[in-house]
Amino acid sequence: MIPAQFDYLAPTSLEEALAALAESDDAKVIAGGQSLLPVLRMRLNAPELVIDIGKIDALRGVRDDGDALVIGALTTHHELLNDPLVAEHALLLTKAAHELADPQIRHLGTFGGALVHADPAGDLGAPVLALGAEFVIAGSGGTRTVGADDFFVDLFETAVGEDEILTEVRVPKRSGWGAHYEKFVRVAHQWPIVAVAATVRLDGGSIAEARIGLTNMGSIPLRARGVEQALVGASPSEDGVAAAAERAAEGTSPPSDLNGSSEYRQHLAKVLTRRAVAAAARH
Ligand SMILES: Cc1cc2nc3c(=O)[nH]c(=O)nc-3n(C[C@H](O)[C@H](O)[C@H](O)COP(=O)(O)OP(=O)(O)OC[C@H]3O[C@@H](n4cnc5c(N)ncnc54)[C@H](O)[C@@H]3O)c2cc1C
Repeated sequence: MIPAQFDYLAPTSLEEALAALAESDDAKVIAGGQSLLPVLRMRLNAPELVIDIGKIDALRGVRDDGDALVIGALTTHHELLNDPLVAEHALLLTKAAHELADPQIRHLGTFGGALVHADPAGDLGAPVLALGAEFVIAGSGGTRTVGADDFFVDLFETAVGEDEILTEVRVPKRSGWGAHYEKFVRVAHQWPIVAVAATVRLDGGSIAEARIGLTNMGSIPLRARGVEQALVGASPSEDGVAAAAERAAEGTSPPSDLNGSSEYRQHLAKVLTRRAVAAAARH
C-alpha cells in the first residue's frame, strides 16, 4: 500500500528537528526507515509530518570517550559491525550486528532506530542490556540520560517521548570480557525466535562476573539475573555453566506463535544461554 499523505522535513541540526517535533501534534521521526516505512505503508500509523533526521551528521559515528564508547543514534548496523572500536570494547554489539537482518537492511537501518522501535525480537536490545549501556535523549527542555534497565518500557515503547530524539548511546568499555550472541532462527536473515547475549569476565579459570540479556522472551528485552548470579565462580565449560543456564527462563513470559510455543522458547533460552556463556568464555 502507499502511505497516507504527510509533510516532510529534513533538518540539518538537532535543534531544528526538536523544534519541529515540539511544534507539531502529530509528527514522527524517521532515521533509516526500515521499520517506520513498512508501518506507514500498512497505514498502521499516519503522521501529518515526517521529520527525517538522516541529514543531522552530529548523530553519526562511534567515538572513544575514555571509559565509554559513544555510538551516535544514526550509526548504521553496517558501520557498527565494521567499527574497530566496537569490536575491541563492545564485541557483543559486533556479534549481534553480524546476525541482524541482511546486508541491505544493515546499510540503511540505524542503531538508534532499532532501539527506539523496540521490537522485542530485535537483535540489539539484549546486547545493550548486557553491556549496561546508557541512552542520551534530547528534548526541547534539554538532555537526559536513561540506563539500559529503564530504557525499554513495553512492547514497542521506550523511555524516548514523542517529542524527543535519541541522540547517542554510551557503552561502558568491557575490554577483557568475552562475548557471544547466540541467535536461534529457522532460516537465514530472520528475526530471532529467541536469542541470548552473554558477556563474561574470567578470573583464575572461573567466571568472576557475567551479564546476560534475553531476546524475545517477553514484551521487552530482559536480563537473566538468576543466571548471572549462579554463574559467579562457575567453571566456564558448557558442563560447568549448565546448572546456571537452567535458570534462564525464570521470570520470563515469551510469546507463542507459528515459530514456537512459549514453553519451547523457555526451553530454547536455557540451551542458548548455556552455549552463549560457554562461547563467551572462550573469546
Ligand atoms: C526485512 C527486514 C528484516 C529485518 N530483520 C531484522 C532482524 O533480523 N533483527 C533486527 O533486530 N532488526 C531487523 N529489522 C529491523 C531493522 O533493524 C531496522 O533497521 C530497525 O528496526 C529500525 O531502524 P531504522 O533506522 O530503519 O528506524 P526507522 O524505521 O527510521 O524508525 C523506527 C522507529 O524509531 C523511531 N526513531 C528512529 N530513530 C530515532 C531517534 N534517533 N530518536 C527517536 N526516535 C527514533 C521512529 O520514529 C520509528 O518509530 C528488519 C527490517 C526489515 C525491513
